[in-house]
Amino acid sequence: MKHDFKTLRLDKVTRRFDGPNAGKGDAPVAALGGLSMNIARGEFVALLGPSGCGKSTALNCLAGLLALSDGGIYLDDFRIDTLPPEQRGFGMVFQNYALFPHMTVAKNVGFGLLMRGVAAADIAVRVKRALELVQLLQHADKLPGQLSGGQQQRVAIARAIVIEPPLILMDEPLSNLDAKLRLEMRSEIRRIHGELGRTTIYVTHDQDEALSLADRIVVMKDGLVQQIGTPQEVYGQPSNLHVARFMGYRNELVLDVSAQDGNGAHLSGPGISLAGIPKSLLGQRATVSIRPEEFTICAPGEQAGNSITASVESVEYYGCESLFMLRTQDRSRLYVRGAGNAKPGDNMTVSVPQERVLAYPVEQAA
Ligand code: ATP
Repeated sequence: MKHDFKTLRLDKVTRRFDGPNAGKGDAPVAALGGLSMNIARGEFVALLGPSGCGKSTALNCLAGLLALSDGGIYLDDFRIDTLPPEQRGFGMVFQNYALFPHMTVAKNVGFGLLMRGVAAADIAVRVKRALELVQLLQHADKLPGQLSGGQQQRVAIARAIVIEPPLILMDEPLSNLDAKLRLEMRSEIRRIHGELGRTTIYVTHDQDEALSLADRIVVMKDGLVQQIGTPQEVYGQPSNLHVARFMGYRNELVLDVSAQDGNGAHLSGPGISLAGIPKSLLGQRATVSIRPEEFTICAPGEQAGNSITASVESVEYYGCESLFMLRTQDRSRLYVRGAGNAKPGDNMTVSVPQERVLAYPVEQAA
């Protein structure tokens, strides 16, 4: 398989499945509806979205475990979606590790090389190198059952990289680990990618994982790409309300965009004054999206420009800060994260930088 490719190209990759009423004349449903993108060699790309959005389908199409219904996959100009998985030779890492329980760690890691007819002496050298990379050399002779979940996932990673694949595909590799191990393994995966520079496609439903690991994130919903961008782009400029919701923009206020000045359009309602709304929304109703952590809580009586005043309904105390649930004068709910000792019943004014206020046409909210 081509290792020196410049671009992995997905061209309208589509996969349909028969729905539950296929026998009664219903058309097949697209689990993946035309994914197109170019991935540069060495890039780390995360496919991110909620359960059922089609991310595993995309990965399995890349691996060759699923045939495409339409479209093509290319390494530069060389078409690969017509090849069986073994000819693609991609490294796969699954959520459930998929190790052979009766084989030692070293045998598990070397298995792919054995199948490819690599000489025993060569296998030993390469397995040792891969186990060093994942820091498991001292466990080479153990069985998978004698290792922790995190260590087993390292074995699975070693097994994927030992064949020196052109592409590494990972499907929710950290989902079975507890929170602490997940964080540790995240940095391990980042380090290993940094050392080897292998092109990696990583499926996850966890925004933090995608943000911290990937060079680029593909946000998906219902089989369709919603946005492709760097972590900074997807986090800071979600292209629509679905992406915003998925990236933690928890507050949604539906308001009329009424006035306009040099700064763009304004939103004003009872207790609400927000500037910098795109002029294109003037005269419309807009859904305004703001993260709870973007607000600054104003001191009582303080005048603030871009602000909302609302009444505190409940408080969740987290130690260094709290999550305040407010109710605006027109009864919308507003979450604010920050330090403060406001109590239920108090009025609170919060300000937010103009550029942290996202506004979308209201019809997108569905
Ligand atoms: P999860 O994280 O839950 O695995 P996902 O984003 O990876 O979700 P997919 O597994 O790709 O989603 O599934 C996308 C859609 O395709 C879902 O609606 C699913 O029910 C459907 N689907 C997947 N595999 C099949 C199949 N073999 N037959 C019929 N429908 C399928």
